[in-house]
Amino acid sequence: MALTERTLLGPGPSNPYPEATAGLAAPLLGHLDPEFIATLERTCERLRTVWGTANPVTLPLSGTGSIGMEAAFANVVRPGDVAVIAVNGLFGVRMCEVAARYGAEVVRVDHTWGGPVDVERVLAAHPSPTIVAAVHAETSTGVRSDIAALGAALREHSPEALLLADCVTSLGGIDVAVDDWGVDIAYSGTQKCLGVAPGLAPFTFSERAWQRRVEIPPVWYLDLGLLGSYVRGGPGGRTYHHTAPVAMIASLDTALERVLDEGLDAVVDRHRAAGRRLQEGLQEMGLELFAAEGHRLPQLTSVRVPEGADSAKVREQLLTEYGIEIGAGVADYASSIWRIGLMGHNARLDRAELVLAALRRVLGR
Ligand SMILES: *Cc1c(COP(=O)(O)O)cnc(C)c1O
Repeated sequence: MALTERTLLGPGPSNPYPEATAGLAAPLLGHLDPEFIATLERTCERLRTVWGTANPVTLPLSGTGSIGMEAAFANVVRPGDVAVIAVNGLFGVRMCEVAARYGAEVVRVDHTWGGPVDVERVLAAHPSPTIVAAVHAETSTGVRSDIAALGAALREHSPEALLLADCVTSLGGIDVAVDDWGVDIAYSGTQKCLGVAPGLAPFTFSERAWQRRVEIPPVWYLDLGLLGSYVRGGPGGRTYHHTAPVAMIASLDTALERVLDEGLDAVVDRHRAAGRRLQEGLQEMGLELFAAEGHRLPQLTSVRVPEGADSAKVREQLLTEYGIEIGAGVADYASSIWRIGLMGHNARLDRAELVLAALRRVLGR
């Protein structure tokens, strides 16, 4: 990418990969065209590989990451069901709001923002929850929580409970292993580490969750019973549910191909190396990282705004003078931290060096 183009490093829409753009620019096929249906099926298959799952119900939902969250709760919550939800940032809070709208009795387990989810505290919150939910990569704080440990502990403590993981910022950036970790329901978004335009929510749903799903959820569009035939067809073949966003699916398909060609391990290593360089460089500059050590996401670095610096002014200068977008903090941390994304295409050492150099100039450090 040429430096004259604007480099988007914030947690918002990442810059698309050339492959993703190619998918968007491909000739538009009709949504019932056999060639498109083959693309959709291949996309679902590639998603299974990236998720680390054999779940038949694995598909890109039409909507951004939040539609994945909505579908997750809509298809398993019956009024009065207990949903234990770990909250260590903005997206945990959002899960509580969504679960409550579907009638869940939400048991909210609050954690300090900037720290990971505490498995013991989550399990101690209720003896027999229907659902236990946590955010794998909290984009609002830059923290990774240990979903593998949560899954293992949950199998001992409440084997009946369904485990739900928000993987919007983790899929395609750090390790995700749905089946190995015992995750029943997971969703992601295309615009984070997968580096595609926003608009689809990769989604996966286990057999166990399928057996316990709500037959007729209160929302029609996200009813997985109906969406199953949208993707795979039944005895009567694939049936119309809604018009598939064909350009977005073509785009996701090409991005997944790129990820799988590079290799999942190599993609994870690349994110790790870029994030580590950025975080080391920020500390060398005398800045203080926000997320707890040992739990920092490589793809989203949170750093405290140094004393004397004007958070908004620095962000504006980075954007206008260097074409680099970094994010502000959210909620209580809106002006006291910055969030710097190195996701997908931007997860590279040269990108890390570029941000560091620009920040050094703007801060005069
Ligand atoms: C971005 C994000 C979401 C919401 O995704 P949208 O695409 O903005 O709807 C949910 N959870 C996490 C962890 C996110 O980072």
